[in-house]
Amino acid sequence: MNEVLRPEPRQGVMDIAAYVPGKSAAPAGVAKVHKLSSNENPFGAPAAAIEAVREAAGHLEYYPDGSATKLREAIAEVHGLNPANILCSNGSDELLGLIAQTYLSPGDEGIFTEHGFLVYKIQILAAGGTPVVVKEMDERADVDAILAAVTKRTKLVFIANPNNPTGTYLPFEEVRRLHAGLPRGVILVLDAAYAEYVRRNDYESGIELVSSSPNVVMTRTFSKIFGLAGIRIGWIYAPSPIIDALNRVRGPFNVNSAAIEAGAAAVRDRAHVERSIAHNEQWLGWLTQELTQIGLRVTPSVGNFVLVHFPQNGGHSAEMADAYLSARGYILRRVAAYGFPNALRLTIGAEDANRGVVAALTEFLKS
Ligand SMILES: *Cc1c(COP(=O)(O)O)cnc(C)c1O
Repeated sequence: MNEVLRPEPRQGVMDIAAYVPGKSAAPAGVAKVHKLSSNENPFGAPAAAIEAVREAAGHLEYYPDGSATKLREAIAEVHGLNPANILCSNGSDELLGLIAQTYLSPGDEGIFTEHGFLVYKIQILAAGGTPVVVKEMDERADVDAILAAVTKRTKLVFIANPNNPTGTYLPFEEVRRLHAGLPRGVILVLDAAYAEYVRRNDYESGIELVSSSPNVVMTRTFSKIFGLAGIRIGWIYAPSPIIDALNRVRGPFNVNSAAIEAGAAAVRDRAHVERSIAHNEQWLGWLTQELTQIGLRVTPSVGNFVLVHFPQNGGHSAEMADAYLSARGYILRRVAAYGFPNALRLTIGAEDANRGVVAALTEFLKS
């Protein structure tokens, strides 16, 4: 008989490559640090959300409302949804895990794409499922390839739309075509973390498709345009049977009391959102143009970040650019784990950060 020598995690867990967040520190001695590595909002959190957290700090002895009613109602009001079809979470990463835990049995397959968000793979493995990676075309999800990868064991398809770290998106006709080709028992997860930033007529975040389908869910976050990454709020809009199942699995107080208050205040602050969108529009265009002009390829992005590709040879690799920029206080995101060993992801920052990065990269390419 085999003697068990130590506790072993369930199958799949030790296959997980733990998520590595974007760096936040520069080397010692750098005067000003511009954190452009995690797609955070350069305007910060809305003032009303900060005030709501201060207020909440006076009542920390109480458990939060376990169903985050105030937050769900605020989200529902702003988006014109039924609050019963919304479930809030400790960041949308938590939801991605809940979906995997709730719907995958060992051996069930979860599909995501070649350059898709890494949390999908982590959560599929953590749930004991089998990750299935599908090739992309031109750094964008390929609907035909995804449909061709579906098997009897497929339970979940994860699409970030727009995707991180590429910034590319699927026009809604493509999302519909994907949904139409999926078996009814497969859940299509539309991760719309960057939806607010997209200015395209052929883009939809997925609300209508969720409303009319039993097997589509949409996840959203307060971490990006709302500037609340630190307090961890995500939400899902989903058909009632899916909400019911997720509610059984989630922690009973998964959203803390300060987050409930901050989120409810932030979602109603349309001025903050509009200001953030306008700033992003301007500087996304400017950065794409300037970086292209100095000879770097930029993947066309609709999000609040750009994927910048470095020359294959000539001593100007992404790794060297990263070191050069860090030394000057510009912290970008390495994306080798996403299949881009020679690119960096740059968050659209404040004006001085954007101008500074372009100036530094211009110098770097001459060095
Ligand atoms: C940032 C991001 C999220 C949001 O994560 P939170 O846990 O809500 O902070 C989700 N999906 C993608 C693709 C992201 O880039």
